[in-house]
Amino acid sequence: MKTIAIIGGGITGVTTAYALAKRGFAVTLLERHRYAAMETSFANGGQLSASNAEVWNHSSTIAKGLKWMLRSDAPLLVNPTPSWHKLSWFAEFIAAMPHYRDNTVATARLALAAREHLFQWARDEDIAFDLKREGILHIYRDRAGFEHAAGVSKLLLQGGLSRRAVTPEEMRAIEPTLRGDYYGGHYTVSDSTGDIHKFTTGLARAAQRLGADLRFGQHVTAMRAGVDGVDITVEADDSGATRRYDAVVVCAGTASRAMAAMLGDRVNVYPVKGYSITVHLDDAASRAAAPTVSLLDDATKLVTSRLGDERFRVAGTAEFNGFNRDIRADRIAPLVNWVQQCFPGVGTRSVTPWAGLRPMMPDLMPRVGRGRAPTVFYNTGHGHLGWTLSAATAEILAETVGAAGR
Ligand SMILES: Cc1cc2nc3c(=O)[nH]c(=O)nc-3n(C[C@H](O)[C@H](O)[C@H](O)COP(=O)(O)OP(=O)(O)OC[C@H]3O[C@@H](n4cnc5c(N)ncnc54)[C@H](O)[C@@H]3O)c2cc1C
Repeated sequence: MKTIAIIGGGITGVTTAYALAKRGFAVTLLERHRYAAMETSFANGGQLSASNAEVWNHSSTIAKGLKWMLRSDAPLLVNPTPSWHKLSWFAEFIAAMPHYRDNTVATARLALAAREHLFQWARDEDIAFDLKREGILHIYRDRAGFEHAAGVSKLLLQGGLSRRAVTPEEMRAIEPTLRGDYYGGHYTVSDSTGDIHKFTTGLARAAQRLGADLRFGQHVTAMRAGVDGVDITVEADDSGATRRYDAVVVCAGTASRAMAAMLGDRVNVYPVKGYSITVHLDDAASRAAAPTVSLLDDATKLVTSRLGDERFRVAGTAEFNGFNRDIRADRIAPLVNWVQQCFPGVGTRSVTPWAGLRPMMPDLMPRVGRGRAPTVFYNTGHGHLGWTLSAATAEILAETVGAAGR
């Protein structure tokens, strides 16, 4: 196996291209946009968060989901119109609940492995991506949330991650700009944040230096996998062309389900929509009033990251509403209001809203490994943790492809 096509130029496709190119494969990456990282890997929450490894397959998620059903500003929204895709996804979500503990532990392990690769690659390739290593503070407004998190900490520890419970006074010492009344927090000093878009575009250039052929403006419309190769048809510049590769790796984000169907596989990724705002800290007062430690607010499910001196990113919400990318004003407003409440000194005159679709598997575990045909591989379905996990899954995938080629 020598020539490998990768479908998708987000964080998963680019890390896969880099890991394979480093091992000497002839890599061709096919991306429909003009540049890397223009879809879900564009403006996410920025957290490299092993501490957020808890999978959602828990009865408390369902209880909260039902409570939030009727509130338009709720962190989780489900469009009640049924579709086969949505129903099958929720059925598999419930079926994965017995694996809650094991999958949380496994995700924590994966996140810790990913950190090492990602930091190493950034050093090796001199990628500046607003990395901030000041930890992540999870904040809780009530006792129930705080105590549930204490149970999660035990699972994280089994995966190798330690985090500590902190009092409201300690929270204020860790992040003095935070306002509000809290029951307590859990602080993970080893977690960090960074700009996924800057990192992905930097690593894409590094993959090119290693010889990978990154082709943009290439929309993959058909694929046929056989035992000794994969035929891939691409629409580019209004013309279609089919080319044969020894193997394919699908890293197509929310399109991976459709890509897998072409290849005879079922990868039940659902597009779970989220929003972010980037608050531009244009004046010195706003820069001083914005946090540098990353936060995860358990009640609102919002995450934050400080990207350099002059940007503050707030992200969250989960909407089950198909392939809808509309930026809804009533979903953005709660993010801006949250900034005003928790960081009243931060000016919100200049705010850039964004919406993205998380490629989420029902058990919240990425699909990494072989497909039905011996020439097909997947590295996709990273859901709400693609930035945190991709460097590790790319390494695992590259090892798998290497072993298959021997
Ligand atoms: C609001 C929000 C906040 C988030 N916050 C965090 C966070 O704090 N930490 C974290 O770890 N993760 C976070 N995530 C999740 C993370 O951003 C995603 O898991 C990750 O970006 C997914 O990367 P990907 O490469 O799988 O998908 P994408 O980045 O979407 O890349 C897939 C690519 O495939 C291409 N493609 C698809 N079909 C075709 C085709 N037919 N032909 C050619 N190209 C094709 C697309 O154009 C796209 O560029 C967040 C997500 C959202 C939405």
